[in-house]
Amino acid sequence: MKIAIVRERADGETRVAATPETVGKLVGLGATVSIEAGAGALARFPDADYAKAGATVTTAADAIKDAEIVLTVRRPTVDVLIGAAKGALVIGSMDPYGNEGEIDALARMGVTTVAMEFMPRITRAQVMDILSSQANLAGYQGVLDAAVTFERAFPMMMTAAGTVRPAKVFVMGAGVAGLQAIATAKRLGAVVSATDVRAAAGEQVESLGAKFIMTDALKDASGTGGYARELTADEKAAQAELTASHIAKQDIVITTALIPGRPAPKLVTKAMVESMLPGSVIVDLAAERGGNVELTKPNEIVTTANGVTIIGYTNVPARLATSASQLFARNLYAFLETMFDKKTKAFAVNWDDELVKATVLTKDGAIVHPNIKLPGAATA
Ligand code: NAD
Repeated sequence: MKIAIVRERADGETRVAATPETVGKLVGLGATVSIEAGAGALARFPDADYAKAGATVTTAADAIKDAEIVLTVRRPTVDVLIGAAKGALVIGSMDPYGNEGEIDALARMGVTTVAMEFMPRITRAQVMDILSSQANLAGYQGVLDAAVTFERAFPMMMTAAGTVRPAKVFVMGAGVAGLQAIATAKRLGAVVSATDVRAAAGEQVESLGAKFIMTDALKDASGTGGYARELTADEKAAQAELTASHIAKQDIVITTALIPGRPAPKLVTKAMVESMLPGSVIVDLAAERGGNVELTKPNEIVTTANGVTIIGYTNVPARLATSASQLFARNLYAFLETMFDKKTKAFAVNWDDELVKATVLTKDGAIVHPNIKLPGAATA
């Protein structure tokens, strides 16, 4: 079984889908691993460490040639995969919504693409959850980005020259990224509040020592699988009213709100930003999915006329390339291990496994996932 890893081609991508640690484990399972020279360089994993772990370090084309499994952080283009074995498994983050044409191109070249972001949120699959591992780091990094941009201290400081008041941090969306943002801001000494549309988030926010803010008009907008559903127009209005009065008193706002398969909900309007004091900082961790803040410019840092800085990095995990790669690679390894038959010491995909069924997008030349439809395709 040949497994290939190539350097990520997407702009600004610093992560790598396998580390020397996971390569060693894959070799231990009996796989042959080939990796493109320099694939781990931006994440600080030198070629020599991959070689020591048992990989062949080579060119991209040579790594891909006859590979039966290709591990990737982002969805590769067809040209990168030319030469892979027929039906090769391409496993990574596939970002399929809005990119159905690209998924179709991969289907037609005959590879089996596996979207790790579709991993079911069940106990068995927690170790394979790339959304959680990467969101956790993004929540942490988002607070650090805010802290270095903010021109004041986070903690309360009592000095001989007087007291500096602690920064007020408001986290919108208390899922994986939001909870880590709350914990990080608390560790830095800020006074933290947070909101979410799922009632269950309230207890988690409070257990981290932050204040939970939620309007009475919105009881609970939990959807399926632990995710949120989209709000109704009335609920949106009630939430906006609450946000408007709270945000004006905040120094830092970290937004993380997402709804699966939908653009990020717009939670912070231009008027709300204008109500904030000069020097305030907003970090929009939903920038990649359109942003939670009306004024966010993806991949830019903008400062408004009233002196509020809005940070819109689209790939925050890539700002922590080493940690993000370590966790991402372990997520992939954990999934691969389930496909390994310990008796025969061979890889054998069980197509009936619920994890496989949930994540396979393309197989035998066609798109097979029920959620992915080509624009214009007939719906069942
Ligand atoms: P996510 O990235 O889809 O969304 C981030 C947060 O934004 C969520 O908490 C969501 O409720 C919130 N949100 C959506 N619309 C909002 C709005 N209009 N206003 C404010 N907040 C809004 O979610 P996530 O971080 O991936 O996690 C969602 C839940 O799933 C969490 O409770 C998490 O603990 C749980 N989870 C479970 C598992 C598992 O395996 N059991 C794994 C990971 C996460």
